Amino acid sequence: MTDNSLLQVERVTKTYATAAGALTVLHEVSFALGGGESCAIVGPSGSGKTTLLGLCAGLDEPTTGTVRLAGQSLQGLAEDDRARVRNESVGFVFQNFQLIPTLTALENVLIPLDLRAGRADAGAERLARELVDRVGLGPRMHHYPLQLSGGEQQRVALARAFINRPRILFCDEPTGNLDGDTARAMVDLIFGLNRERGTTLVLVTHDLELARLTGRILRLRGGRVIADEPT
Ligand code: ADP
Ligand code: MG
Repeated sequence: MTDNSLLQVERVTKTYATAAGALTVLHEVSFALGGGESCAIVGPSGSGKTTLLGLCAGLDEPTTGTVRLAGQSLQGLAEDDRARVRNESVGFVFQNFQLIPTLTALENVLIPLDLRAGRADAGAERLARELVDRVGLGPRMHHYPLQLSGGEQQRVALARAFINRPRILFCDEPTGNLDGDTARAMVDLIFGLNRERGTTLVLVTHDLELARLTGRILRLRGGRVIADEPT
């Protein structure tokens, strides 16, 4: 497991400086995931799930400990280099989607490629259209985020996370804002893309039914891993 691991998290601690003093929200968290595996991170609100996901994806740096993505340690990299690793290997679906309001659905999906290549070429645009179709938003391709429902925005965020063919996809509460049918459609998409492309999945969720669809459940409480078990 350790030598073919795509994601290796070793004794990661995160401490924030707050007005009330140092606040440690993750305590020596360790786990590893191999290529194509899937894992759910569950735990009560405030237990550190979003913080851990951000550290794994290289969006933020741990206070101590290391995160290795595809064999590369994210610590000690300059922000530009971390951004490059993120852009080449990582897809991220944020809890609140983070779509750019002045760009259409299709343009939002192209953002990661624009960052990498300078501008999207015809092949990139074709892939973006395919992904937008795939999430069922072909007819909404030219809509702006405000012209989309919450569930539709979430699906745009998912299409965007797949545009750079990430080796690993991080989703923060991917069904948190969705009703039953829309949530199921989102889950089918995530696992469908996982199967077809062998994308490694890390999902933060409150939904135990969703968590059980992954290969493994990591339980957090108070910033500590209290269980790490196969499903
Ligand atoms: P979860 O996603 O499990 O609900 P979070 O990872 O968002 O939990 O937050 C874990 C804890 O860290 C919470 O108590 C939260 O208030 C705190 N926290 C998160 N970000 C910051 C920050 N930038 N500064 C100080 N405290 C933070
Ligand atoms: Mg959260």
